[in-house]
Amino acid sequence: MRILRVALPVPLPGLFDYTHDRKQPAPEPGSRVVVPFGRRRLVGVVLEVAGSSELPESRLKSVHQVLDGPCLDRHLLELLQWCARYYCHPVGEVVSMALPGLLRRTGRRSPATESWYALTESGHQASLDRAPRQDSIRAVLQEGPASRKTLVDRVDGAASAIARMLEKGLVCRAEPPPRQLPSRVAGPELNTDQRHALAAILQARNHYQGLLLAGVTGSGKTEVYLQAARRALDRGRQVLLLLPEIGLTPQLVRRIEARLGEQAWTYHSGLNDSERLATWLNAASGKARVIVGTRSAVFMPLPEPGLFVIDEEHDGSFKQQDGPRYSGRDVAVMRANMLGIPIVLGSATPSLESLHNARLGRYRHLKLPERAGTARMARWRMLDLRGKEKLEGGLSPRVLQTIDSHLEKGGQVLIFRNRRGYAPVLLCTACGWQADCHQCSAHMTWHHKAGRLVCHHCGHTQRVPTACPDCGDPNLRGRGVGTERLEEVLGQRFPDYPVYRVDRDSMRGRDSFESLLETVRKGEACLLAGTQMLAKGHHLPGVTLAVVIDADQALFSADFRAPERLGQLLIQVSGRAGRGDREGEFVLQTLHPEHPWLKDLARNDYPAFAERLLEERKTADLPPYSALAMLRAEASRPETAQAFLDRALESTDPPEGIELAGPFPSVLARRAGQYRFQVWIQARERNRMTGFLQQFTSQLRALKSPRNCRWHVEVDPLSL
Ligand code: ADP
Ligand code: ZN
Ligand code: ZN
Repeated sequence: MRILRVALPVPLPGLFDYTHDRKQPAPEPGSRVVVPFGRRRLVGVVLEVAGSSELPESRLKSVHQVLDGPCLDRHLLELLQWCARYYCHPVGEVVSMALPGLLRRTGRRSPATESWYALTESGHQASLDRAPRQDSIRAVLQEGPASRKTLVDRVDGAASAIARMLEKGLVCRAEPPPRQLPSRVAGPELNTDQRHALAAILQARNHYQGLLLAGVTGSGKTEVYLQAARRALDRGRQVLLLLPEIGLTPQLVRRIEARLGEQAWTYHSGLNDSERLATWLNAASGKARVIVGTRSAVFMPLPEPGLFVIDEEHDGSFKQQDGPRYSGRDVAVMRANMLGIPIVLGSATPSLESLHNARLGRYRHLKLPERAGTARMARWRMLDLRGKEKLEGGLSPRVLQTIDSHLEKGGQVLIFRNRRGYAPVLLCTACGWQADCHQCSAHMTWHHKAGRLVCHHCGHTQRVPTACPDCGDPNLRGRGVGTERLEEVLGQRFPDYPVYRVDRDSMRGRDSFESLLETVRKGEACLLAGTQMLAKGHHLPGVTLAVVIDADQALFSADFRAPERLGQLLIQVSGRAGRGDREGEFVLQTLHPEHPWLKDLARNDYPAFAERLLEERKTADLPPYSALAMLRAEASRPETAQAFLDRALESTDPPEGIELAGPFPSVLARRAGQYRFQVWIQARERNRMTGFLQQFTSQLRALKSPRNCRWHVEVDPLSL
């Protein structure tokens, strides 16, 4: 008997056994197969081929079809099995997640290529006076071959006109032109610190080494990665560059291509299935030498890997928030380790985890303490709000003056506010009623232009009421400042300058953000008001002033990671100012200018700030000085979720070195109608955690949670 052990995309642990005809050649591990599962047919991946099963033969079903040769190599299979164990998630779902969408289905294994068309000889000459659409298509094609998409975009009713013209032989199918690479540009000559960093990376080229490249904003980290990447390419190796979601802009991709003289293949959620498959297959065949992607690209097949780079390694978007809750950064480190290649983790504000690893000597700590070229760090100013000045859209008169003087000198001004919408709260001035989400323990955000209240947690939206639903008073007012309000206030206060709002509402689609960045890079004085999207990584040399309106909440948050995130945010926002020739300034409005965290940050001393936080974590036994996992449960009635977690706690007797605490309500106690509770699981040593969670989760499955109570375990959670 031949048994195939198959990983299937179902929320059950372990592999599933199927019989396979011995007369057929045995599929290699990593091959995709179609198998019956209940009444469905599923695509799975063979992980093992065995001679026997623990189940009696009568209960085994046979494999329907072997789809193709191995699409995951042994190394990736090993990595995915490690992920399943470490993140305590069913291996079948982990394996399925690592495949591009099209390979999770039975269909074809080659990406769809777009149709291109060209004019034929008779197409050039035909008289098309009475077929205006065909004539318009000809006009486009006279400039050269064009894709179907171009034609459809530019000519109304193009689809049927193309069909007619194909029939009449006026157009024919054409090869898509090869993609134009920007011409190769030599980078600047590296300064001493950059050269040392590069040398350290190159020294590690033939073995595993984690390298933490801690360089202040604008210190030239990207130049270092690119030179290291170029050397890896020269040695015939592939390079994988992982970026946070917002960091992956077309502009950055062009910069990488120009510097490396090599096409950069992208992999992220903005691509369609076919584009993702194309990158994946080309990486697997070795044609793609440079892959640039967000966290899911960490599972890219790479026959000749030479270097991994994680840019902005502290960024929370490397952590997946549903399904297998893995950290793309941490998986990349594990993978580099398994492959025996170097991995560079770069950031101006490294995570405490990575700093801790550097301190323990697990990573080499490389530092770029100065900005590259002639740019200097922005000057910090803490603006004490305790004087009770009247604020306008959250801005004090002194900040407004500062903004004015920067604009007058031709500078660009960036104002950071981490709240979308017009106001975070809508309230009744007569009785104090506030608009709350009926499904979440949260206020609804008032979006003024859209005339709607929106819950930013569950997405529920409704019309803004014309009067208070409690007392009928028509005087409803917003409290607090969102980016929409900020935009309005800035527009009124500075009518001579353009105001650009940058958030998820105003920047739908990648292109709108990219084209805004292009406009801003032209350098004309302007105001930019926006969220996270503005804080990260973008190089805007015209910005001379960056302002954070209010970050005080984070000083007193219940989340132990809040101060770390605050520091990273403030340093990143201040790092947007003064990247060009002119000196930059950063202003933080606060009611707590004496706070020790803020004082470290104001000296632009992120290392001292991080040291302080690490000491605090150590005292409290929090990560990275212990390992943390969360068991979370949610149900439509709070008792249900709580009772399940109580039973979970009773069912286990944690071994020495593992502590459980809870159940506690989550910070957002109710979301989308579900009450959420969690149990903290803390381990002094990480490897004990993995073992304990295996055993604990199998007990939990045996407990049979009540229907309509869902639970999951998250390892190394970032948000509480
Ligand atoms: P980071 O990635 O640390 O933010 P970048 O690599 O993007 O920094 O560099 C910031 C700016 O400084 C870029 O415009 C880059 O071209 C320039 N730069 C980098 N290294 C040097 C250098 N050695 N000499 C001059 N300019 C440099
Ligand atoms: Zn009222
Ligand atoms: Zn809600």
